[in-house]
Amino acid sequence: AVRVRYSPSPTGNPHVGVIRTALYNSAFARHYGGTFVFRIEDTDAARDSEESYEAMLEALRWLGLHWDEGPDIGGPHAPYRQSLRHDIYAAAAERLRETGHAYHCYCTPEELDERREAARAAGKPSGYDGKCRSLSAEQVAAYEAEGRRPVLRLRMPDQDVTFVDLIRGEITVDRFNLFDYVIVRANGQPLYPLVNPVDDALMGITHVLRGEDLLSSTPRQLVLHQALREIGFASGPLPRFGHLPLVTGEGNRKLSKRDPESSLQLYRDRGFLPEGLLNYLALLGWSIGDDVEVFSMDEMAAAFDVTRVNSASARFDLKKAEAINGVWLRRLTADDLAARMVPYLQAAGVLPTPVAEADLELLRAATPLVQERMTVLDESVGMLGFLFAPGAVAFDEDAVAKVLTPDARPVLEAARSRLAADEKWTTETIEAGLRAALVEELGLKPKHAFGPVRVAVTGRRVSPPLFESLELLGRERTLARLDAALL
Ligand code: GLU
Repeated sequence: AVRVRYSPSPTGNPHVGVIRTALYNSAFARHYGGTFVFRIEDTDAARDSEESYEAMLEALRWLGLHWDEGPDIGGPHAPYRQSLRHDIYAAAAERLRETGHAYHCYCTPEELDERREAARAAGKPSGYDGKCRSLSAEQVAAYEAEGRRPVLRLRMPDQDVTFVDLIRGEITVDRFNLFDYVIVRANGQPLYPLVNPVDDALMGITHVLRGEDLLSSTPRQLVLHQALREIGFASGPLPRFGHLPLVTGEGNRKLSKRDPESSLQLYRDRGFLPEGLLNYLALLGWSIGDDVEVFSMDEMAAAFDVTRVNSASARFDLKKAEAINGVWLRRLTADDLAARMVPYLQAAGVLPTPVAEADLELLRAATPLVQERMTVLDESVGMLGFLFAPGAVAFDEDAVAKVLTPDARPVLEAARSRLAADEKWTTETIEAGLRAALVEELGLKPKHAFGPVRVAVTGRRVSPPLFESLELLGRERTLARLDAALL
């Protein structure tokens, strides 16, 4: 049975690259009816934070990517936080050392630097030279007497390492480029190169789908996987690896954690829908078919084939992400869209918390007016703010300067007196009244007729359709705003 994992390090905010990794793992597991494991790789106390840990879980929850085993829900291989698994790593390290797969190295950083420099100068490989590979008991005793504390290194084989990447095909690393690397620090801290494969092995992970930046660690990790099986610390076949293409930003630079546009929170704050963002992220390296860009996560899971993932890097294109989000936004029912806008309107102070039923009804009625015009939810603040402003509307200065000129006065006066006489107050009567008063009687072009009314009532030059907006706003408030603009 397929078992995959998403294993972020909690060192900051989740970024779109790791979310794409989580998504592909989730789709792969679902495609095969397998298990999606969520593991937290918090072995670096100096950089990890509890806040980031919470953010990692919250990100997938918000996106609706469900996991089957994880730090919050447990599972057969609990705990799923590496900071709680130290005894396991210590035992693995000790067994590797006893069986000769790993050995203590007493070289100091200064000694290593010196020899590395010398190797470089001589044009030789500058990785670890294997000096401590076979120390005698006397040498060990002498080092210990000097007070040196050893690191633990994994012994690399004398052959090349070859594996078949699910996306990139066969990859071979020459044995001269495989150096005995450190898996436990002198202070006893187990390192990523140890704990990541140990957990993958013990948790029965069958496929490792992760970013291309980790490709260089795969040959060494495979050696460790092999050793863990030889010594009976783990069992089962070696996992298969697939390295997902890099996600790049502007100018085809790798999108790093530090780039603001890589932060998932940014897209959430702007009002991307989980459906829209996931759909867009799915396209960063994979496609469901020619010319099909909009699909659901169910459709993705049904169709996902990791061997069809592209190896070329994928550029994050904000415009396209927004366009796809807009498609998802238009597919929502008006009530659903209204409910999703509420938190954005609350965050901007347009709606109170909790929201009153009357406001909610007004919002639902207004939603069809903006649904076709929006791509992200936080646009609702600018588009609908005027409907909920209790008194005066917030004016856009530029709109006031350009539209509410002295010339606009007679227009507003004519509009006001016509609307004051409108007892029915429907979109149709409002439109008929304003057309008669402004276009026919004053002889204005529609733009010059309705522009001042729009700015006076909504505060902006761009608003939802005017007559519908006035109907929703109501006669009292419409007249009050025209009066205020005439002062
Ligand atoms: N914790 C690692 C990282 O965040 C993931 C390693 C892996 O997926 O193998 O980079």
